[in-house]
Amino acid sequence: MSMSGTRRPLIAGNWKMNGSLDGSRRLVEQLARGIDHDAAEMLICPPFVYIDRAREWLGGTAISLGAQNLAAVEGSGAYTGEVSGAMLRDLGCRYVIVGHSERRTLYGDSDPVVVEKFRAAQAQGLVPILCVGENLDQRERGETEKVVAAQVAAVIAKLGIAVFANAVIAYEPIWAIGTGRTASPGQAQEVHAMIRALIAKHDAIIAAPLRILYGGSVKGSNAADLLCQQDIDGGLVGGASLDAADFLKIFGAAAR
Ligand code: PEP
Repeated sequence: MSMSGTRRPLIAGNWKMNGSLDGSRRLVEQLARGIDHDAAEMLICPPFVYIDRAREWLGGTAISLGAQNLAAVEGSGAYTGEVSGAMLRDLGCRYVIVGHSERRTLYGDSDPVVVEKFRAAQAQGLVPILCVGENLDQRERGETEKVVAAQVAAVIAKLGIAVFANAVIAYEPIWAIGTGRTASPGQAQEVHAMIRALIAKHDAIIAAPLRILYGGSVKGSNAADLLCQQDIDGGLVGGASLDAADFLKIFGAAAR
């Protein structure tokens, strides 16, 4: 039985370290003007320094706000340069990305760090978007399932399965991020189904409504084919989220 009807798609924009104050304002205003349905949820994750302004620019629109990262520790204190979950919550964030592959590969966010960030997010009532995905070598060696399952299992082992009742998973094959090379809808669906089955093995009630996003060169021209897959419940979008028209086209594809 398909449960996909019970999952409201999430179209999330990860702006990464891009933009300016002016450009960000224009982008938010264009999105706020262009959002034309509520069959899916739209989320933007600006750089930390623009989040507070983005909240003002969003005004009363239905667009959700999130961050790209947070400190692994809870509370406050002597953690120079870090931003806590409580601060993000204070600024109106609802979501936070944890374990993005760029964090994992460039900034040493290993599985244990990602787990602590996941925990810190939920402790503040933020919904973590847990990114998982294999690199090209791993895919070519046939290790995709093993790698992705281990990244999800790291969270379950430490925090338990119940935390996924209030989380989102994003499958992002590293070889597809920012490369223009997208996983085929079939390739992506296969991994999404595997992730849902892994969660279901622990708790089928949690697995059914869990949103699993696909990320990796999603754009207006390929979104519909990806989003119509049974276990693809939205997209985590990098490059195309900086272009209001393309992001709105992706969002439009999520309505069908
Ligand atoms: C991402 O960074 O999460 C991502 C999927 O990037 P892009 O859409 O540019 O591949």
